[in-house]
Formats: sequence, C-alpha cells, structure tokens
Amino acid sequence: MSTAVPTPPTTPQSARHFTATTLGTARIGPHRELKRAVEGYWAGRVSAAELDVVAADLRRRSWEELSTAGIDSIPVNTFSLYDQMLDTAVMLDALPPRVAGIDDPLDRYFAAARGTAEVTPLEMTKWFDTNYHYLVPEIGPDTAFALRPDKVLSEIAQAHGAGITARPVVVGPITFLALAKAVSDGPAPITRIDDLLPLYIELLDRLVDAGVEWVQFDEPALVTDIVDGLPDLAAAVYGRLGEVTRRPAILVATYFGDAGDALGALARTGIEGIAVDLVEGTVESVAAVPELSSKLLVAGVVDGRNVWRTDLDRALATLGTLLGSAGSLAVSTSCSTLHVPYSLAGEDALDANLRGWLAFAAEKFGEVATLSRALRNGRDSELEAFEVCRSALETRQSDPRLRDMAVRDRLAAITDSDVTRGVAVERIAEQNARLGLPALPTTTIGSYPQTTAIRKARAALRSRAIDRAEYHRRMRAEISEVVALQEKIGLDVLVHGEPERNDMVQYFAEQLDGFFATANGWVQSYGTRCVRPPILFGDVTRPNPMTVDWITYAQSLTDKPVKGMLTGPVTILAWSFVRNDQPLSTSASQIALAIRDETVDLERAGVGIIQVDEPALRELLPLRSVDKPAYLEWAVRAFRLATAGVDDSTQVHTHLCYSEFGEVIGAIAALDADVTSIEAARSHMEVLDDLNAVGFANGVGPGVYDIHSPRVPDAEEIEKSLAAALDAVDAQRLWVNPDCGLKTRGTDEVVASLTNMVTAARKVRESI
Ligand code: GLN
Ligand code: ZN
Repeated sequence: MSTAVPTPPTTPQSARHFTATTLGTARIGPHRELKRAVEGYWAGRVSAAELDVVAADLRRRSWEELSTAGIDSIPVNTFSLYDQMLDTAVMLDALPPRVAGIDDPLDRYFAAARGTAEVTPLEMTKWFDTNYHYLVPEIGPDTAFALRPDKVLSEIAQAHGAGITARPVVVGPITFLALAKAVSDGPAPITRIDDLLPLYIELLDRLVDAGVEWVQFDEPALVTDIVDGLPDLAAAVYGRLGEVTRRPAILVATYFGDAGDALGALARTGIEGIAVDLVEGTVESVAAVPELSSKLLVAGVVDGRNVWRTDLDRALATLGTLLGSAGSLAVSTSCSTLHVPYSLAGEDALDANLRGWLAFAAEKFGEVATLSRALRNGRDSELEAFEVCRSALETRQSDPRLRDMAVRDRLAAITDSDVTRGVAVERIAEQNARLGLPALPTTTIGSYPQTTAIRKARAALRSRAIDRAEYHRRMRAEISEVVALQEKIGLDVLVHGEPERNDMVQYFAEQLDGFFATANGWVQSYGTRCVRPPILFGDVTRPNPMTVDWITYAQSLTDKPVKGMLTGPVTILAWSFVRNDQPLSTSASQIALAIRDETVDLERAGVGIIQVDEPALRELLPLRSVDKPAYLEWAVRAFRLATAGVDDSTQVHTHLCYSEFGEVIGAIAALDADVTSIEAARSHMEVLDDLNAVGFANGVGPGVYDIHSPRVPDAEEIEKSLAAALDAVDAQRLWVNPDCGLKTRGTDEVVASLTNMVTAARKVRESI
C-alpha cells in the first residue's frame, strides 16, 4: 500500500474514474469489537480515548481489507459509533434541543441515541426494507442547521494518513429529510431542503480542502415514493450541487430498488457518477437513460444485502450490456454490506455444498474485484474464479434439499378452502363454550422475563457444561415458576413464558429443515445490538413437532388454558436471509405449512388456544406503493394457511408489535384471527377505531400498558384505558393484555404491572 496522500484534482470532471468498489461496509467489527467497546464505554469500563483506538483500528482494518481485495475506491465515513443517520444529524447540527445541554459531544451523541434519565432518545425505525434500524432525526421549522463536518473530515484524514484513496460517504439531503420526522405537527421536513443545500455546498468545499477526489451522497429514498415528486427533487438538488465549481466529483448512490424516473433526472444534472442497484433494479431502466453516456456508472451487480454467491457469468453479461450505456463502468455491491455478515471464514459447520453457494462481505469484495478485472481484461484472465463459481452453482441446481417434491405437491394442491375457517361469529361461540372465559379475559403476549438462570443455562448448554436433559429440566423449572406466578396473579389465559427460545425466529429455524444457522453471522440491527439471522436455503419441512412438549407440560400444571405460541411465516421470512431462487411467496407458503402442522399437533395434544405472532407483517411491505397489494395478498394467505388447519373450536390469536397500521390495516383484518393483540398503550386506543373502520369484528387486545418502559402502571390508569377501549368495541370482543412480550422486563415490575392489570380488568368487568 502506498502512503502518498492523493493530490486533489483540478476539476471534478477530471477526477479519476475508479473500477471496483462497495457502497459501504459493516462497522460493528468481525467479532463485534465495536459492540464491546461502546457498551464498555456506557458502563464506564472503557474511556473515550480507548473507544477511539478501537474505532480507528476497525476502520483501518476494514480499509486495508478492501484495498487488498482489489477495491480501488474506498468508502469512508460509513463507520459509525451508533448510526449513520444520527451521524448526519450531528453533521448538520440537527440534534433535538433536549440534548443540547449535554456538554460532552460523545455523551450528547449517545443521549440522542439511547436517552438518559432526563431525556428521551430519538425514535428508531427500520432503514427501508432492511432489518437495520436508524434513529429518526426530528426536524422542525426552527431547526437551525449548521455544518459540523468534524467526523467525516477526521476519518478522511485518518484514511489519507494510511495511504487510502478515500471516498467519503454522506447521507444525501433528500434522504436525510425524507426519513426525518416533523416536530409537533410542523411542516414535513423535506420542505427544509433549500436550507440544507448551502451546508452541502460548504461541505463540498471542505472536502476539496481535504484532498478528496470523489464524494458519495447516499440517496436510497429515490427508489421509493415516501415523498412526492422525488425525481423533480433529485433534479433540483443535484442540479444545484452539480453546478458548484469548487467541489470533488459527486457520486449519487441509489439502492434497494430501481430508481425509476429519478435515474434520468440525476443523469441530466452535472454530477459525475451514479450508483444503481442491479440486483433489485433493472438493466432496462439504465439502458433507457441516454445521458448516462457521460457518467461513471457504478453498477451494483453483487448483492450487498443477501448472502448468496454471485453468478459471475450472469453479472459479467449484465455489465457487458451496460458498457454501451455509460461513460465508464465500475463494479460494486448493490448497497452497503452493512446488512450481511463479515466473512465465511470460521463457518466450519457449513457443508461444502452450502458453503459454495454463499458469499458474505469479504467474499463479495472478491467478487467485485474479479468482475472488474474480467470486464477490463476479458473473462479468460479470471478463468479459475469463474470455474469455481460455476461448479458451486451447479451443486445448488442439483441439491435435493432445494426441491422437496412432497412439499411442492402439497402446496400445489392447496385450495381456498385450506385457507378459510368457519364463519367468525360461529367460531367464537364454539370457543366460548369450550373455554368458558370471563368477559374481558386477561392474558400476556408470550414471553416472561429472560432471567439470569435462563441465560446461564443456555450458555452452559452451548459450552457443553450441561447436557440437553439437564437443560430441559431447567427450562421446565422456569415454566413451572411462570405458570405458578400467573395463577397467583390471577390471569385467565396463561402462557409458558418462552424460556427455551433464544429468539422467536431462530428457535423455529433451528428445528425446520431448509434453514441453516451460522456460527458468526452477526449483523447490526441497531446501535450495538446485533442479530444472527438464519439462512433459508432450501425447501422447508418440519421433521418433528417443535413446541408441543413445552406447551403440554405447561398445560399439565394448571386448569387454566395455556396458549400455544408460534411465530408466523411472514415473520420467520422477514428475519432470515432468504433464498433468491424462488419468489418469497413460495418460501412463505412452505413455512406456513410447517406452522400449520404444528398447530394441528398442538390441537391434537389438547391445546385450545394457539397464538401465531406476526410482528413483521408490516416490515416486508415493498418500498413502492404499486408493489404493496400483491405482497399483502400472499402474506395474508400465508398466515391463513398456517392457521386454518385447526378446528373452529380452537381459538387462533395473533400479535402485532405496532399501532401505526397504515397500509396494513385491511390485511390485519383479513388475517381473520379470532383474537388480535396489538400495541395501543402509547396511541390511546385510536387503533380500535382504525380496525372498526375496516369492518374488523373479531376479538382484539389493545395493549393496555407499555412494556417498553420500566414504569409500573397503576390500576386506575389501566381502567381508564379499558373504558376508552369499551367506547370503541363491545365487551365480548375485548381482551386485556400488555402491548408486547415481557422478555426484557424485570420480574418485580412484571408482577406489579400484571397485578394492577388484573385488578383493573376485574373492576371494569363489574361495570359491564
Ligand atoms: N410471543 C412473543 C413474545 O412475547 C412476541 C414477541 C414480539 O411481538 N416481537 O416475546
Ligand atoms: Zn410485540
């Protein structure tokens, strides 16, 4: 690696065109080093200076890895101590006033991210349709933007010091505002776009001073329709930035879909480069834009957010067809590799076939470099890599695990009657007769606090300090405690508490054929929280019942009904890496059949109530409105396929983790669950009116208190919630429950809150 600091170009137009890149990288560390350092800082074990050292080291290692792999333009400033949207808010001096009093910049940053005893944090929400969550900037008419480019400039300086050709990456002004939220019913943040442009212009100037040749502005919002008139906005904003004379070359990155009309709009401005997602977008829309012939086109042919090996022959053919459309062509991942694990190294439990089908971030960088060389020097220069790829993909074509004819035949034979239960009111009558519950039945969502004993037992099992039998014994002990606790509190419908579940998706994935769990496949979910999504690679089947023993054990301890507890097909899909060789809807149906078999087994074992959670139903919504109805149709059908195999006298519950139903409200009604529990504690029961408006007439359990906070609600306050609910729904339809699972809460809080909840329900029962 050379140590020369790059010489700044004289004009943006003369910037060197690079050939191989990625739009960004993960930053949590190959072994989650950053997670440990940041959490250590929060706990007071790690100093700010020590945290700095860990961060700088992770950045340097990541750049070196890219450089060694053959990447010739290296993204910087994709590093973050918590989140890139929060970093952008800091860069624009747009943190909310409530954290302004915190003097130390690092503590102010983390306060905005996580809150303190005095201030509430920014809201967090999903980053487009990924499983990454960003912090939502709050922008009001009074937000006084100012440029604070310290972070990006210092990372550039570090890179230049290490001899790295750095391409700083900054969230673009359109995406920043489109994803921000208005404060106190003020105007939409996007109306402030003209106030942001001078800051971005000033930033361009500072980047020239720093010796930067290319800057990347991330504009994934351009593949959506979250605000109106995005193509026009793109034309205006990048038209203006493109006119600036003293600036680096500008690359605008679109990803997570097809930029559609925004692509032409960008191409007609004076910017130098555009990155397009050719995994989720199409070559045709690129070929349709003649103005690209003067630009650097950064072609995202390597999937940045899923785990599969790239078909090099196909990708090279795609690149070949683009040669005529673009001024020059660079090969890239389709988006940042933030969304995939670091490397296949260490995944020793993978069988050889499966391993050959996969590419995590490190392997993707290799693919990018290979394609870039093949594009320039001919495929023959990379013969070996192409051969290895072909033979790996051939095994994927022929592996019997990808085509289980029994499942496929079964799915082909499914008809509407398999996804339809009896008439709702008649079902409810049968269920009431069977269950004999009081009005306003009280219940919980499923999990009880994950105690240290549970975590210790799980760790001991992993390290083989205890065997399966001992682990089961300990989990049964937990279940019996939780059942006794619920009886004591006086709840009507009990749960087993889910102690045996590490995670509501992984638990099922581990037991279903067609899924694989990685050893070290961590990806950042938000801040320091990482998840290890299972990989759905084949046809899904259920070799054995997955939950029946646990639920029947719990039921054996009490005369009250115990709910069977399952995760729904859409949620299992949403929180896994999914196979890319068939439609999502096919995989959803296969999972649905497995869950259906489980419900039937539970019913046979005497379980009268089965809850199938679908907290991710809304998460998989496509980014553009036109694609939404088709998604909702198959998602609803998958849930119904999973739940319509039981008798009408078996009560099906579902749980959804949010109250802003928006576009999914009709779908929620269409699930046709007998009882739906939802989040409502923070939205004052408005959700019930929304459900009424779409004609939903089944049972509903609007969460009567917020489990996301440690606060214990008193009985009067819950009574008030119930009274408000009774304004919207009949007493026969109303259930009483918290708004989500209790996994993250402490036992004392839970006992106090649920006791008050039961008291309130009893009181209100008397008044109806
Ligand atoms: N049954 C699950 C639990 O209680 C539901 C979790 C969720 O809604 N995300 O933990
Ligand atoms: Zn929930």
